[in-house]
Amino acid sequence: MKNLLASVGQMLFPNLCVCCDGYLSKQEESVCDFCLYTLPRFELIAERDNPLAKKFWGRLKLEATTAYLSYKSTNDVKKLMHELKYKRNTDLGIEMGKWLGNALIKTGNFNQIDYVIPVPLHPKRQKFRGYNQCDLLGHGLCEIMKIPMLSDVVVRERYNGTQTKKKRYERYINSKELFRVIDPKMIEGKNILLIDDVITTGSTMESCGSVLLDVEGLKLSVASLAVAT
Ligand SMILES: [Zn+2]
Repeated sequence: MKNLLASVGQMLFPNLCVCCDGYLSKQEESVCDFCLYTLPRFELIAERDNPLAKKFWGRLKLEATTAYLSYKSTNDVKKLMHELKYKRNTDLGIEMGKWLGNALIKTGNFNQIDYVIPVPLHPKRQKFRGYNQCDLLGHGLCEIMKIPMLSDVVVRERYNGTQTKKKRYERYINSKELFRVIDPKMIEGKNILLIDDVITTGSTMESCGSVLLDVEGLKLSVASLAVAT
């Protein structure tokens, strides 16, 4: 009976692909196989000069850096990010975390990680949104990589409002003191992987990463589901 109801429900309200609005089969989750196959992945993600690594040259001392997808305002990755941030599609968040986890394993550069830390949202914004999209990615990624996640060791201190209209320099200053490590002992001497959903200028990641690097003996790696190119 339950299956019958589920089938009727599927006929009346079929699940649609987040990218192309096509019908999804039972096996497909949020994205159809065709869209999944054609997503703009970075093929050379193991290379030192991957586009995310370039953003942090001279800004953060990193052990390893990887981004999985290329974000452009015109491509499907923008739709995925919108769904993740504003549509409460938690299943998609976890699924995309698994994509990133598998990509990191393939590079072979992330074998030493002790803990995963998702970039925190300011508590006000998290309350408004109901969740931190980076936590969702973290859950999927940690399941694949079998690494524990720490969601409450770093906090975001000051609300910086919308930053889209500000210039890069102002954004950097504005986000400079946004993060604080509240339990440094927990991560002293550890290999930490800091994860974000999408990186544009890199200033948020730089700000969060630099407070982590102040912790004694900490080694930092960075991964993002997507990076603006
Ligand atoms: Zn599709």
